[in-house]
Amino acid sequence: MFKVHTIGGYNEVGKNMTAIEFQEDIFVFDCGIHLPAVIDLQESTQEPTSKMLEDAGALPDDSFLMKNRKKVRAFLISHAHLDHVGAVLHMAKKYPQAEVVGTPFTIEILKTLIKDSRALVRNKIHIVKPDSSITIRGRKQTYKIDFINITHSTPQTSVITLHSKDGAIVYANDYKLDDTPVMGSPPNYKKIKEIAKKGVKLLIIDALYSGDDRKTHSEKIARAMVEEVLFTVDHRNKAIIISTFSSHIARLKSILEFSKKLNRKVVFIGRSLAKYVNAAQKVGISPIKGKAEIVSYTKQVESRLRQIDKRRHEYVIVCTGHQAEPNSILDRMVAGKLPFNFKPQDSVIFSSKVIPTPVNQSARAKMDKKLKQKDVRIFDNVHVSGHGGREDLREMVNLFKPKHIIPSHGGLDKTTPAMELVKEMGYKYGETAHLCQNGNVIEVK
Ligand SMILES: [Zn+2]
Repeated sequence: MFKVHTIGGYNEVGKNMTAIEFQEDIFVFDCGIHLPAVIDLQESTQEPTSKMLEDAGALPDDSFLMKNRKKVRAFLISHAHLDHVGAVLHMAKKYPQAEVVGTPFTIEILKTLIKDSRALVRNKIHIVKPDSSITIRGRKQTYKIDFINITHSTPQTSVITLHSKDGAIVYANDYKLDDTPVMGSPPNYKKIKEIAKKGVKLLIIDALYSGDDRKTHSEKIARAMVEEVLFTVDHRNKAIIISTFSSHIARLKSILEFSKKLNRKVVFIGRSLAKYVNAAQKVGISPIKGKAEIVSYTKQVESRLRQIDKRRHEYVIVCTGHQAEPNSILDRMVAGKLPFNFKPQDSVIFSSKVIPTPVNQSARAKMDKKLKQKDVRIFDNVHVSGHGGREDLREMVNLFKPKHIIPSHGGLDKTTPAMELVKEMGYKYGETAHLCQNGNVIEVK
């Protein structure tokens, strides 16, 4: 018997954290922040402290863990997105004996976050290669933990399997099933089948888009969308500005390759782009190395944009700000705070989707209005999601064949459609399929 504590990410899209409590040991899957809360905060301050984030509700509520502090053995981090890794630097210090485990890219991002915020993290940091395993000793048993390669929108994302004497627990938050990824390998079906064959007690699974009747398209489709907007539109003598998720290295690769084919130089502008591109470079998976310039410091940004402004037809600018975040590069360019002048029929390409929160939606609407006043062309949603839809979810359930299922990654509006699907597939509400909110405890026998 073990207990599942659904700590964070079950009332909101963010601050993901799920803990598995055995008699003597606790393991924590993910330790993320709640992004919209942080964006709110950043309007008033630059580097939020742990206390500020906690007061803003941006961190998972770890009161259960604190009561059982000494039993926490490890934080197992699935991937490099901030809603999965971003709270480690604020919370792991409370559990100094617990290891923090992740793939090289995830850990490299964590190290950058720790360095930038000058956080004190003394926990042992354990790097595990994609598609490999580690063992962690508990008080009375040793646990084997697999980090299985899965496809998502940032490199080296893993489905984590925790093997215990009470059965295998699979954590698949976030994923899509992409057999033709632009970077990295397809999902490791062989390993998934091997684990399924031995029996899976519980599957905790990303239900974010389980309400969408689809199988999410491959990243190769997003690549074709980027190609189309760059090649079938007349950009002669005009500026091209593209904004996308900084952590989406595969998308940056496609943008870089097609921009080169247009005979334009690519300049990546912005601190978070530099952070993710440099991390990819450090762990040896960067497709950008030596092929594009990365500019992040204010003075550099200004002088480079001044030059580009005069020879706009020679460049593609890739910058931060697709969610119109205050003080992002695109926000400052549009507001005229940087030395770049938009001219009629310049293009702004959003290789992203607006995250549907009121803060983001209203900021983007304001940005779009300003761009349109300058007669700038806007290409929105040149993007394919990294999260699976309803049919990816069905495939994952069919692959793992778990005894129990807990849908995760959002409030009841996101998890209810997943429950409906698994009920169709034969699972029983409250018995083998569990609808959870933050702070719930499920006992699995
Ligand atoms: Zn993610």
